[in-house]
Amino acid sequence: MRPMRTGLFGGTFNPIHNGHIETIRFVINAFNLDRVLFIPSAQPPHKPGAMLAPAQDRFDLVQLALENEPRCSASDIELKRLGPSFTIDTIRHVIEEEHGLYYLIVGSDAFFDMGSWKDYQSIFRLIHIIVMQRMDFTPPMNKVTEFIHQTISSHYTLKNDHFEHPEMKSIYVCNTPKIAISSTQIRDRLMNKDPVAPYVPKACKDLIQRKGLYQ
Ligand code: ATP
Repeated sequence: MRPMRTGLFGGTFNPIHNGHIETIRFVINAFNLDRVLFIPSAQPPHKPGAMLAPAQDRFDLVQLALENEPRCSASDIELKRLGPSFTIDTIRHVIEEEHGLYYLIVGSDAFFDMGSWKDYQSIFRLIHIIVMQRMDFTPPMNKVTEFIHQTISSHYTLKNDHFEHPEMKSIYVCNTPKIAISSTQIRDRLMNKDPVAPYVPKACKDLIQRKGLYQ
């Protein structure tokens, strides 16, 4: 039996939007993943701000958005942990629970920021990385290579579609469709009372309005 293939997709999800969902659908097919855990951060170390909705509301929105998404589910692992939500702690927790193949899925903007994440070298030792394209952050391969060699390890080499390392896990750059949606844009639209229907699932839009979030 082949090992279960799990994607971990962390984020602030402030709020979740169709860009998150559509790109993950693509990654699930491309990597034949059995499941993807969407993991909202309770206290994002990189994104403190007044416009951050309560963690439980962001989690509820993720859960609603994924109701009809096969192979996707919301995980409350970071909500249950006290203190800042560091990705390395989440990875350790999840991979210790069950044997399998694990992939951390990040947008290219988040990927290029990983050098500032807590204990990031350990992240690359523990879990494969899938980098998704993002509208303003389409990474030319030479920029990716340069970043990997300067920030992570000069021993990574490019093999067809991914970077390999003798001791660390692989890094895949995935040609996800470019979907020009961000949570920032949605919060701005909500504040300006502009419609958000095309950008977030309907059930999420309804809950946001019922709770008066971001307004
Ligand atoms: P904000 O606008 O508040 O910075 P965001 O839209 O980037 O938020 P996050 O919750 O911070 O949303 O993103 C979680 C993860 O999803 C990150 O790895 C991010 O790069 C990725 N991501 C978000 N939106 C997209 C998108 N449209 N296409 C590809 N990846 C995305």
